Amino acid sequence: MTTSAITTQPVAELLAWIACRDHLEHDEWMQVIEEAETEDLRCLADDLRRELHPDNVVTYVVDRNINYSNVCFSVCNFCAFYRKPGHAEGYVLSYEEIYQKVEETLEVGGSGILMQGGLHPDLPMDWYTGLLSELKRRYGIHLHCFSPTEIYGMSKTFGMSYEQVLRELRDAGLDSIPGGGGEILVDEIRRKRRTECNSQQWLDAMEAAHQLGIKTTATMMIGYGETVSQRIQHLEKLRQLQQRSLASGKPGFVSFIPWTFQPDNTPIGKIIPDRMPAEEYLRWLALSRLYLNNIPNQQVSWLTVGLKDGRRGLHFGANDIGSTMIEENVISKAGANHKATEQMLVNVIIEEGFKPVKRKADYTRLS
Ligand code: SF4
Repeated sequence: MTTSAITTQPVAELLAWIACRDHLEHDEWMQVIEEAETEDLRCLADDLRRELHPDNVVTYVVDRNINYSNVCFSVCNFCAFYRKPGHAEGYVLSYEEIYQKVEETLEVGGSGILMQGGLHPDLPMDWYTGLLSELKRRYGIHLHCFSPTEIYGMSKTFGMSYEQVLRELRDAGLDSIPGGGGEILVDEIRRKRRTECNSQQWLDAMEAAHQLGIKTTATMMIGYGETVSQRIQHLEKLRQLQQRSLASGKPGFVSFIPWTFQPDNTPIGKIIPDRMPAEEYLRWLALSRLYLNNIPNQQVSWLTVGLKDGRRGLHFGANDIGSTMIEENVISKAGANHKATEQMLVNVIIEEGFKPVKRKADYTRLS
């Protein structure tokens, strides 16, 4: 389809093609997000969610984000968490402190841990592998750790390929990888927001994980100054990588998690002080569900939009409500301070008409 044909296409026709599971061109998706009624987008995404998950289940996870270190050699102007190497407020948790956090997580029914940190310039590789193998030996839990930016950081620090880094981490006990640091995978905006890990490096680290059979999630952070076109380019890059991973028989991305930029205490928060309105987030949640129909699960980010709008997301294509997140230090420093217990998430899922099922970080169901 040519661009001139696209721009004259009534949006109703484009929505009908989406309903038939046709994949549209870039400008057609632009037209859809700009012109479609919210209710039309919601219905289409809800239909696809039902088709992918006919058992009416909405999953959730009980875990915490253990931020093992805030020391980071990247400079990201949307981040309120990191401290430059040598900064007085920089920290690295000891193994003992991490064990204690894991034990607290297990006591409240945790099924694993998410562990992420900055790009530390001095921690040796055996600090990471030693920690993973000790956690696996002591607790036998699911280890969902180190986003592609950290894999990039290790690769750069140790002069190893992504594959070598990931093999060592996997052999030490790593089970799956979170999709952090994706933000928007278009260098035009990315270069203005971070100094390390460009789009291709993030995608290459993810692809290396997929090729090793390591399941990962994918994310999109919206509302930090990117254009609508750049959001769609981001979705396209994820879709294409997922196509390659599935074609080579790997599970690839098991879930997609769009979330909103949190501006508090961040340098660009002075320029972009407002959070994205819930309506806009929900429209993008629905559009992402439709765009990434080759990724099986979609999570609504109640942590950034709150439970009131989080529950609405279950009708905009999301079949997962994420984590109780009993500890989180990255987006909470930027102003996302929503809290929920396991019972609260379960109640929300039931109240919205779904069946709650607890899962692991790789979306394996626990019942
Ligand atoms: S977003 Fe991640 S990579 Fe960027 S400064 Fe913060 S911790 Fe470092």
